[in-house]
Amino acid sequence: MTEPEIDYTAVVEILEDVLGDYRMHNDYKGQISFDCPVCSYDIKGLDHGDGEGNWEVNYKYNVLKCWSCAETHDTHGSIYKLIKKYGTPKQLKNYQLLRPDDNDEFPKRNYQRVKLPKEYIPFSNVSAGLKLTPQYRQAYNYIKSRNITDEMLLRYKIGFCYQGIYENRIIIPSYDENKNLNYFIGRSYLTKTKLKYKNPEAQKEIIIFNEYLINWDEPIYIVEGAFDSIFINNSIPMLGKFMSDHLFNKLYENAKKIIIVLDPDAWGDAERLYHKINCGKLMGKVWIVKLEGDKDIADLQGKLDDYKIKQLD
Ligand SMILES: [Zn+2]
Repeated sequence: MTEPEIDYTAVVEILEDVLGDYRMHNDYKGQISFDCPVCSYDIKGLDHGDGEGNWEVNYKYNVLKCWSCAETHDTHGSIYKLIKKYGTPKQLKNYQLLRPDDNDEFPKRNYQRVKLPKEYIPFSNVSAGLKLTPQYRQAYNYIKSRNITDEMLLRYKIGFCYQGIYENRIIIPSYDENKNLNYFIGRSYLTKTKLKYKNPEAQKEIIIFNEYLINWDEPIYIVEGAFDSIFINNSIPMLGKFMSDHLFNKLYENAKKIIIVLDPDAWGDAERLYHKINCGKLMGKVWIVKLEGDKDIADLQGKLDDYKIKQLD
């Protein structure tokens, strides 16, 4: 967490003041849910909360969203935006004393815009001269050893740096739904390295890796890392062992079918994830693949149909 100095208890008190009693609260995660005022009063015409608790706030990450009406009624954003709209000026003022950085500018503040390293060279654009160098050969041999094809290099704009602070790293850029760069992965291609991955500082928990390539109407594959995602079309890497709330919400709102494909040694994690997301609107839409023994995702090479996808009890 980047802001340990914030008095979260006081933030929760203001949220309760604005939205009424909470429905669920996990103070470790900083997650709390309320009845959505728009769902309750505007949509359903109730004079009390609808009891659904659809409005979920993560006050540590300062993100919030109504699972039911965010797309249609703009009920998502920052806590500042929420209090400005539904609270009193006094509540807003009290909140800003606790968290002065949260204002109309949020969330642009904490994180600088991600830029590709200036030394980044896409594999699809390597000069004839560079191809003769040992630096290029080293990088390209690594690509071949991971079974990455030239087609994948092109599709995912994969490149490398042979100098600079990302020296000796393969770069996989990520672009958001509007094709703006939002992240990249820097994986060392040296056999001996202290730091396998060196990635830019970014608000990772709100990034959908290469979202511009995702077709939400088609089955969405959930994989662990960015290197996995290049082997399966329409897959989203969690960029870690756990799914972010942001990705979960996106899936909840948009996915028609979800297929979980984690490494064979992470079967327990895969099962837990299955049961976590197979709920509510997603019930019955979640599937899982069990990879055999030493097979990993690169071995599939797009032939996922050969593997049995299944649903769990
Ligand atoms: Zn709502």
